[in-house]
Amino acid sequence: MIITRFAPSPTGFLHIGNLRTAIFNFLATRKEGGKFILRLDDTDSSRSKKEFVDQVKEDLNWLGICWDQEFSQSDHIKRYDSIRKELVEMGRVYECFETPAELDLKKKKLLSMGKPPVYDRASLLLSEKEKEKLRSEKPSYWRFKLNNEVVEWRDSILGNQSINPSSVSDPVIVKADGQYLYTLASVVDDIDYGVTDIIRGSDHVTNTAVQIQIFKALSKPVPNFGHHSLLIDLDGKALSKRDGSLNLKTLKNSGIEPMAIVSLLVSLGSAHSIELYKNFKDIFDTFDLASLSKAPAKLNISSLNALSQKAVQELSINEVEDYISSIGVPKGLSRNFWDMAKENISTKNDMEELWKICKRDVELDKADPDYEFLQKAFSLLRDLHKEPEPWKLWTEKVKKVSQRKGKDLYLPLRYALTGSTSGPDMNKLLPIMLLNNLQIIE
Ligand code: GLU
Repeated sequence: MIITRFAPSPTGFLHIGNLRTAIFNFLATRKEGGKFILRLDDTDSSRSKKEFVDQVKEDLNWLGICWDQEFSQSDHIKRYDSIRKELVEMGRVYECFETPAELDLKKKKLLSMGKPPVYDRASLLLSEKEKEKLRSEKPSYWRFKLNNEVVEWRDSILGNQSINPSSVSDPVIVKADGQYLYTLASVVDDIDYGVTDIIRGSDHVTNTAVQIQIFKALSKPVPNFGHHSLLIDLDGKALSKRDGSLNLKTLKNSGIEPMAIVSLLVSLGSAHSIELYKNFKDIFDTFDLASLSKAPAKLNISSLNALSQKAVQELSINEVEDYISSIGVPKGLSRNFWDMAKENISTKNDMEELWKICKRDVELDKADPDYEFLQKAFSLLRDLHKEPEPWKLWTEKVKKVSQRKGKDLYLPLRYALTGSTSGPDMNKLLPIMLLNNLQIIE
């Protein structure tokens, strides 16, 4: 059985780039009937916040992504301690003492000599006595000792991969403040939870080489890896996690439909053209991890808006009824209102403005050159409240009486009613305004 996990760090809001990872894991798992785990990578206690954990969960639920199991890495520190001890005994984890400033200096020296800035393993040469002395002076940190074996794996997206670890520094696994870093913690959890497939962004490829060595050092089976390409903007620049407009909370608040986001993210980099899916089940047939492109995927926000507009317009009355009543539309009017509104909105939020129009009264202004025309016209409206097609009947009557036609006839009426010269189909809008007790104030 396939077991996957999505492992966000709750140090900020869920970003559209990371969401793509969640979606790929979720689809790959649900397609096969496996198990999908939500892992919260919260070992950085100063930056991890409950508020972000709650928001990540809310966002995933909103998108229809559900998980079978959930845990936080901060609950597993003892387990990481014991694995670290095991690895120390094997000689694969060692204690180091350089301060960040000392490490920085070493890096700069190597770079100035044109060498790769790989950690020199100086701490590995310290005697027990020297280490004791250093321990009394400053906190230590810990590194995993890579061996020289070239790491190879068959990546389910990138194909055959081969990384020579001699160009990689021994990774820090515990920082000087005692905080476990993701590199070891992740492997321990992947082992303990039987994770079979790790799908994540291609920014993790080097981590994978390191982590494969840790799996092997612990004599555990290595999971399958798949690294998807990252999202870029239209200028080809990497999307910044700090760009708040692309986090899920903001997208949700701006009224973007969840399945528009999902549909766009699954189609980017795939062999299929962008299409709107109604739910995850509809994606199973077309989704294939192996066919994802290795090239960065361009995110076009206007495609997202277009998909979202299509998604919202295709919603049934049952799907929007709650929202419609939340903005104040009485139950009895919700069908009529939706029938009118859906043709005039890009997002659900746009319905608020439309509802305000439905509740408007008409105020006739004596200074308006059309005052007399409007006064006459609105006096003809009074008897039409119960008619099935009041706009048609009314404008026919007004036409006869005023001798106006076309724009001269329709525009002043529309403007007086809605405050705008364009907008919803008046055949649909006027009955709602009349049912809403439209008042004519002269
Ligand atoms: N917390 C890591 C991240 O968000 C998890 C990476 C992984 O999936 O292993 O990048």
